[in-house]
Amino acid sequence: RGVHTSVDRAILVAGIGQQNLVRVPIKGDWRGMDPDALRQAIEADIAAGLQPAGLILCVGGTGTGATDPVDACLQIAEEYGLYSHIDAAWAGSAMICPEYRHYWPGVERADSIVFNPHKWLGVQFDCSAHFLKNPDDLVQTLAISPEYLKTHGKDGIINYSEWSVPLGRRFRALKIWFLIRTYGLEGLRQRLRNHIDWSQKLHDSLALEPDFQIITPPMWSLWTFRYAPEGAEDLDDLNLRLVNAINDDGRIYLTQTRVDGDLVIRFQAGQFETTEADVMMAHAVITEIASQL
Ligand SMILES: *Cc1c(COP(=O)(O)O)cnc(C)c1O
Repeated sequence: RGVHTSVDRAILVAGIGQQNLVRVPIKGDWRGMDPDALRQAIEADIAAGLQPAGLILCVGGTGTGATDPVDACLQIAEEYGLYSHIDAAWAGSAMICPEYRHYWPGVERADSIVFNPHKWLGVQFDCSAHFLKNPDDLVQTLAISPEYLKTHGKDGIINYSEWSVPLGRRFRALKIWFLIRTYGLEGLRQRLRNHIDWSQKLHDSLALEPDFQIITPPMWSLWTFRYAPEGAEDLDDLNLRLVNAINDDGRIYLTQTRVDGDLVIRFQAGQFETTEADVMMAHAVITEIASQL
C-alpha cells in the first residue's frame, strides 16, 4: 500500500493504467503487505475476469521503512504465475551485511530486484543496480536489433542496450568498483552498521523523554516519532511546526511523513561521513527546539 511514487509512474509509462494498480492492505510491525489480503485481491481479479500480471514488493519503504513479508508474498506470486519485483532502493544497500538479510527471507525467489547504491552505499549519484533472474524477459520486451547494431559472429555477448529503454548507457558500475576498492566491503559494512547502531541509540534516548512518542520502531536506521506534550491539542500542527523549526535551525535536517493519518517526524542516518556525535547531537536539538515552540 505504501509503495513509492516511482511505481505509480512506471504504471503510467507502461500504459497499464492507474485503475489497474491494486494496493494491498498492510499489517504487522513492519507495516508490510498482508499475504491473506494479497491472495484475496488476486482471487477477486480472477473472478472479475481480469488477469493479474505482477507483484511489486517493497523492502524499506521511504516513509517508515515498511517492509513486505517477502517469502510469503513471493510464494503466492509463484502460485499464480505472477512476475515479481522487489523495490529495495534505499535498504538494499544494507544487505551487504549478512545480519540484515532476515528482512528479506526468500528474496532469491524474486524475478527482479532493484537497489540504489547511490543512496546509502555511498556511490556518487546516480547508480541503480537491477538484478534479474531471467534477463530474457527484458530483452524480449525491449530489444530492437537493426542491422547497424548487429555484431556478426558475436552471438552470446551481452548487449545491455537491450535490457533498458535507453540505448546508450554510462559505465556506472565503475563507480561501485572504485568505491569497493577505496573503502573495502568490510569498510562499507562498518559504515552501515554504525548508522544503524547510532540511530538505535538515539531512538533509545528519545524514547525516554516523556513528551515524545516513538511511532514506528527502527527499521535499519529509520524510525519515526511525535512530539506529544501533555495537554497539546493539534498534534499534527505542533509536529509540522517542530520539523520546520528544526530545519530552519539548520543543525540537523528531518522530514515528516504520515502514519495512519497522523503527521510524524522521520529520523534517518545514512550520509557517508556521518559520525556518532552528529547523530547523538540530534537529541539535544530536537528537545531544545520543541521546548521553545
Ligand atoms: C529512492 C526510492 C525510489 C526511487 O528510486 P529511483 O531510482 O530514483 O527511481 C523508489 N523506491 C524507494 C523505496 C526509494 O527509497
